[in-house]
Amino acid sequence: MDDEQVEELKRQLEKQKLVNSELHRQNRHLEERLQEKEKLLQELHAQYQHLEFPPPSGAEIQPEFRKSRAAVIAPEPIPETLHIRKSRVKKTDSETDVIVKAIQKNDFLSRLDDEQIAMMVDLLETSSVAGGAEVIKEGTEGDSMYIVAAGELQVSQAGRDLRTLSSGDVFGELAILYNCKRTATVKAKTEVRLWCMERQTYRTIITNKSKKKREQLMGFLKTSRTLKDLNDAQLSKIIDSMEEVKYQNKDVIVREGAEGNTFYIILKGEVLVTKNVNGLQKQIRRMGKGEHFGEQALIREVLRTATCTADGPVTCFSIDKEVFEETIPVEHLELFDDSKMLQEARTPEKSSLNSTLRFKDLVPVLYQEGRYQGDPVTLGVGGFGRVELMSASTLGKYYAVKRVGKKHIVAKRQEEHMLFEKKILKAIQSDFIVRLHGAFKDTRYIYMVMEFCGGGEIWTKLKEVGRFDEQTCVFCTSCVVEAYAYLHKKSIMYRDLKPENLMLDARGYVKLVDFGFARELARGEKTYSFVGTPEYMAPEIIKNQGHDFAVDFWSLGILIYELLVGSPPFSSSEPQKIYAKILDGVLTFPPYLSEAAKSIISKLCRPRPGQRLGNTKNGIKDVRHHRWFSNMNWHKLRVAQLDAPTVRLIRKGPCYINFDRFPQDQTKAEEEFSGWDRDF
Ligand code: ATP
Ligand code: MG
Repeated sequence: MDDEQVEELKRQLEKQKLVNSELHRQNRHLEERLQEKEKLLQELHAQYQHLEFPPPSGAEIQPEFRKSRAAVIAPEPIPETLHIRKSRVKKTDSETDVIVKAIQKNDFLSRLDDEQIAMMVDLLETSSVAGGAEVIKEGTEGDSMYIVAAGELQVSQAGRDLRTLSSGDVFGELAILYNCKRTATVKAKTEVRLWCMERQTYRTIITNKSKKKREQLMGFLKTSRTLKDLNDAQLSKIIDSMEEVKYQNKDVIVREGAEGNTFYIILKGEVLVTKNVNGLQKQIRRMGKGEHFGEQALIREVLRTATCTADGPVTCFSIDKEVFEETIPVEHLELFDDSKMLQEARTPEKSSLNSTLRFKDLVPVLYQEGRYQGDPVTLGVGGFGRVELMSASTLGKYYAVKRVGKKHIVAKRQEEHMLFEKKILKAIQSDFIVRLHGAFKDTRYIYMVMEFCGGGEIWTKLKEVGRFDEQTCVFCTSCVVEAYAYLHKKSIMYRDLKPENLMLDARGYVKLVDFGFARELARGEKTYSFVGTPEYMAPEIIKNQGHDFAVDFWSLGILIYELLVGSPPFSSSEPQKIYAKILDGVLTFPPYLSEAAKSIISKLCRPRPGQRLGNTKNGIKDVRHHRWFSNMNWHKLRVAQLDAPTVRLIRKGPCYINFDRFPQDQTKAEEEFSGWDRDF
């Protein structure tokens, strides 16, 4: 910058200061009155709270309000075809026994399925640690989990001894899911032998296994006459709806003459098919892995024409007629070609970037009073960046400018995500998604100039009032449904729904911000990254089964719950407990929730993605048509003709009044020249 520019900037700052203080004068009076009202409201609210939430009688019924912002987990770009470097260690029967028992008694690992456990046993490596050595250190990033084979270890936190670990205990298990910080130090007390596994190994194996399994199932389904004409996207949907069932030797799976409504594929074992001939069971054939039976049941009312019995232990993958019909419209069994729809979704729209907006025209807006008076206004600080309020020198128009240090992006390997966030936001034109007006960079930072959502975060509002009434919640959720409809049609999944990422504009309409985790995905494809916010993560992400658009509907269910109750349904201060609860999938509703609310939450939070509302045959229409939305006029919402019930949550006053206040950023990011941001 030359001196002239500096002078010019100074002049503009001075000007802005004057304008600000004038505005401030005008606002002060209003603000004082508002504060009085606010106080009154708070008092009333406290009384109301007391009446509405009598102290819980049962210990568990009233969930705690979530007090802290949820942590996010950014996906690591893990090579999807990683070779296992290290040699496997053969385990004796008794060693296997110790390992399996250890897995079974662990909160999180016990949710793995048999195959995953077997794989784990197979891949664990062994290592020895001398007495006194540290195995994991509090605060460092972890990449392995351990099972104690022999010896004793001490667990401590901030120098305080917590407990002793010995043979059969598991520790550090969260690290196999993502690179989390260790919350405790574990030190060998004696000479110790450990079984250990690195995250890269675990994730690669599980991912490849899931992919192979899907491909195999796809192949099996294609051998069915009824299903062979379905395209891959539809078959993939069917797989998402199917469930694994196990049978013991001699179990009858279907009985001749009984009403049939389930279709089965054999995954493991053999099935005997018999028919009643003159009162005697006559064997007609024997079926094995990959073969299927009962397909007629999917398309018409039939009585079973034969009996199928397990010969030894059998595992089948099955789908009921009812679920099948929800997944695929039966009348369409020779199916429509959706390639056109995809093409349409792919054509880029004209850029919404305002080419006349120049970065140097923006000046920071400053706090006009309080602790940080005179400092630039910070609207929010996220995991990656800081969002500041700026205004164009032509007075009146505000922008939220997200600024992220480039070095930090490179260090956290988030280059792709930043580029994608910009690319997506640039292409998006929806009233329910924040607009991007420009993108800029210098040697230290990248900047995204966004529309300013002056109403603040839904998160802040929720914390202020505890929980939303149904009408407010229906309204907020409807805006999200509109945003989803737009994104999904463009083949984009959002993957980071939560109150922290929902902003209110000045009219109280809700907009999605933060597209750091969004991703484009073709219909019928899956992605395998571990990404999202623990409380909002769908079970298929945690299980590494491959996920798609259905995760957005899961998180929609979690959002409705959190808005109505004040905290998400699966929560704990320990992430592994959150994951365990999600995998268990047991929803408990406080008594004040309406039947309709409970119904929509349960349907959105179905564990099988293929059975989830929004992801069944009518897609997002089924969500809109759910009775919980019966008073919503979707058309009026789209054209912004509804009065938003959220306006009463928005405070009037200085433009930043709906935001928390943050101190100025004193540090300056280092310069970064690797060139990843060429296209930014
Ligand atoms: P993280 O990924 O950790 O959630 P982030 O660094 O990607 O954070 P954002 O979530 O995009 O950043 O933004 C951080 C905060 O800044 C938001 O939670 C919100 O409070 C504020 N903010 C973001 N965009 C806007 C906007 N357009 N208008 C007003 N405030 C905004
Ligand atoms: Mg965010």
